[in-house]
Amino acid sequence: MVRGEKPRIVYWLDNSLYLNITNRCSNRCWFCIRNFKTGVGGFNLKLEREPTIDEVKAELEEALGLRRWSEVVFCGFGESTARLDVLLEVARWIRERCDGSIPIRVDTNGHGYVLNKGRNVAEELHDAGVRSVSVSLNGHDEESYAENCRPEFSGGFAAVLDFVKKAKKAGLDVEVSAVRMPEVNMEKVKAVAESLCVPLRIRDYIPCFW
Ligand code: SF4
Repeated sequence: MVRGEKPRIVYWLDNSLYLNITNRCSNRCWFCIRNFKTGVGGFNLKLEREPTIDEVKAELEEALGLRRWSEVVFCGFGESTARLDVLLEVARWIRERCDGSIPIRVDTNGHGYVLNKGRNVAEELHDAGVRSVSVSLNGHDEESYAENCRPEFSGGFAAVLDFVKKAKKAGLDVEVSAVRMPEVNMEKVKAVAESLCVPLRIRDYIPCFW
């Protein structure tokens, strides 16, 4: 398996294996790496079409044999919960294929309940074997969130908070993450994280990763 021009479903950084199952996203963050680059780590993440479950599994099977990975992360050039059923089936497959030995994480914009009305998203993730979620929160209220993330629906900030609360209740390990940049008032985001009783991970803004 080599890096190159071919769009990748599976890619890796250090010992983490990443899954790029969609390029669709319900946000249009002005700082999104997709605006600046075609991929990360030498991998092309601009999908020409959304992969089928069998295609995801086939690429995963090949990558799983390459080394002992420390985690598998659903995180690519889009919002993985936009393909919830694919995410769930692949997570279940990883759990069975690896006997539950590799932790599974979902990096998400926290819009899962808006994108999947009527579903118990967090519980379904948990039941499929997902252990943790990292929820991006680049704003401290509706206005700042809308300015930075430009969601395609109103109430984006409230949707993220709702997701965090439900994820905690479902038994997932939850953190929120924010990008260090002048447009994000980190003290206020930190206060929001504290009010939700979840840790905040601050990411440096290098147009390199989320
Ligand atoms: S939520 Fe993530 S993938 Fe979506 S636009 Fe923002 S940075 Fe990009």
